[in-house]
Amino acid sequence: KKVLFSGMQATGTLTLGNYLGALKNWVTLSDEYECFYCVVDLHSITIRQDPAELRKRARNLLTLYIAAGLDPEKNCLYYQSHVSGHAELAWILNCFTYMGELNRMTQFKDKAQKHADNINAGLFTYPVLMAADILLFQSDVVPVGIDQMQHLEITRDIAQRFNNIYGDVFTIPEPYIGKTGAKIMSLQDPTKKMSKSDENPNSSIYLMDDPDAIIRKFKRAVTDSGKEIIYTEEKPGIKNLLDIYCTITQKTVDEAVKEFDGKGYGEFKLAVGETVADHLRPVQERFAQLSKDKAFIDGIIKENAEKANYFATKTLRKVQRKVGFPDRI
Ligand code: ATP
Ligand code: MG
Repeated sequence: KKVLFSGMQATGTLTLGNYLGALKNWVTLSDEYECFYCVVDLHSITIRQDPAELRKRARNLLTLYIAAGLDPEKNCLYYQSHVSGHAELAWILNCFTYMGELNRMTQFKDKAQKHADNINAGLFTYPVLMAADILLFQSDVVPVGIDQMQHLEITRDIAQRFNNIYGDVFTIPEPYIGKTGAKIMSLQDPTKKMSKSDENPNSSIYLMDDPDAIIRKFKRAVTDSGKEIIYTEEKPGIKNLLDIYCTITQKTVDEAVKEFDGKGYGEFKLAVGETVADHLRPVQERFAQLSKDKAFIDGIIKENAEKANYFATKTLRKVQRKVGFPDRI
């Protein structure tokens, strides 16, 4: 089987963007690939975190992976901090990555602007750690949203550079981007992506929002002063709502546009809100159920960390040998 790797940060509560852009695709791909789905807590501390909060969020995120439909028997669900190979490989890859390459990363520029009081070296080398995450498992595919494309490209460049020097060490990964839902926009500013670290809670639908909150946020979603429900770049708010609606219902844009022909924005927003609320309800119910079963989740965390460590160590030893570190006796 081919190998798939992906992960999410435990920086906040997952949004509909994370769900439609990544998690929902993970579930459909999990039969076809040998899958590693990581809670990337090493990445999370590039931004200041409250320790107790981070621990709680990381556990909730892993639980949510299962609630969204990932079978923990078939998929390796684990914490990045439980597999030291991530950090060890990241160090080595740091020495094969140029400052100039990292300087071009748009996520760094965005986050440095947002967190001007804490522009740390970890934030700058974030893409190298991400490259290590992916290459550690010799991953063939990486399902991500469009915002992570640039990081995937640098991963491929680093892997290629390493292979050119040392021979075929790393598999060169391919991105997997869903046909729809790959870039869900903020409900308050449809020119910005929906993000779980956005300060305004009305910008994002959180996976744990109750139906009333979901519908209220959609009703308040920023659109435009027009009336027509059409899919065009000139109406980013309406376009975003159509994207959300179509990704969930699996209808085509044409079908959706026809369905809402002649209807007002109010009615349209309500319909999208109800569709999202209905879709998330079973995930929320499973999450509540699973959260009560401490022993079950603990077991998964332990077993899967062992499994991930086993595969990670194989690549790591090979890389260490290639760069000239002494053999272990
Ligand atoms: P943060 O603001 O803390 O970076 P985030 O919402 O960007 O949070 P990440 O943990 O960085 O979430 O990304 C997890 C996954 O979700 C990645 O695959 C990313 O591409 C995807 N993703 C993030 N935001 C969106 C979005 N608005 N639309 C579609 N996919 C998204
Ligand atoms: Mg992000």
